[in-house]
Amino acid sequence: MKVIDVHNHVNPRPFLQAIQDNRDWLGFTSNNGELENPRNSWTLEERIADMDRLGVDMQLLTVYGDYNQYNQDLEHSKSVARQCNDEIASMVDDYPDRFIGLGIIPMQDATASIEELERAVNDLGLRGVTIKDHINGHTLDEPMFYPFWGAAERLGAVVEIHQGDTVVAHRITGYFLENTVGNLVERTLTYGALVQGGILDRFPKLKICLLHGGGYVAFGIARMDKGWEAARLNYMTEYSAGEDADQKLSKPPSSYLGSFYYDCATFSEQTLRFLIDTVGIERVVFGTDYPCPMEIVDAVNWVNGLESLTENEKEAILSKNPAQMLSI
Ligand SMILES: [Zn+2]
Repeated sequence: MKVIDVHNHVNPRPFLQAIQDNRDWLGFTSNNGELENPRNSWTLEERIADMDRLGVDMQLLTVYGDYNQYNQDLEHSKSVARQCNDEIASMVDDYPDRFIGLGIIPMQDATASIEELERAVNDLGLRGVTIKDHINGHTLDEPMFYPFWGAAERLGAVVEIHQGDTVVAHRITGYFLENTVGNLVERTLTYGALVQGGILDRFPKLKICLLHGGGYVAFGIARMDKGWEAARLNYMTEYSAGEDADQKLSKPPSSYLGSFYYDCATFSEQTLRFLIDTVGIERVVFGTDYPCPMEIVDAVNWVNGLESLTENEKEAILSKNPAQMLSI
């Protein structure tokens, strides 16, 4: 069994070299790349030694969210994405039996995002991309993103959804809630927007992975279904005036649970069991958030030690499902 971690982060080596040389790299400085964590400056060889210690055979590498420059000048954003993607491809080339890669793309521009997606997948051999839940405030169901979704479906690209700046940060800045709650809120909003915005109906073969366990999707899906039902009440338009309770879906939002992948980063056996029972075992993949403070510590042993999961379920999460999602 080959254990494949689909959710982890890395810094481009040219960035680390520049920091060592007291230079910036494309404008990125020692304030970027989470360098306060020494593991983010490790060489690939040190990383691989750690993977061996942890029992991880392969990592699907993605750069830190900092490198997504959606709110910057387009040419700069394109250049950063290209150089990050070249670097991820180079890491995979150096250790093809240990790494596979995901790219980043300038999502603020439809043409540029598709160009770089095609280059990443077709020319560099990356498996897809990581994008954020919103692009400068635009959610992923908006028509401006239809061409991107169409291209991702056509290319068979995996799209992992991961956030930095979360909606919670605008409400409360304390207690690290912008991360611990914010990521989960963002993922839940993304599920609701993509499903009810008809993205999965338009592009049914998309391979979207909602990181951080899919947020509150599993726990909150029944209320989305209830809202879908309530929209049929004849007074609902007045009741929800200004909120657009209109539901265009022909089936309830929960019908789409099995159309997404979810990583296992729940930190709780009960929660993971609930996720599996809600979305189906074949949709849960091994993702650790390595080497961030919010990683699952000793994740392979954690999964293997869970008493409420069968051996088949553990193998599905650790190996079979990630391989299937990534077509490897
Ligand atoms: Zn992460």
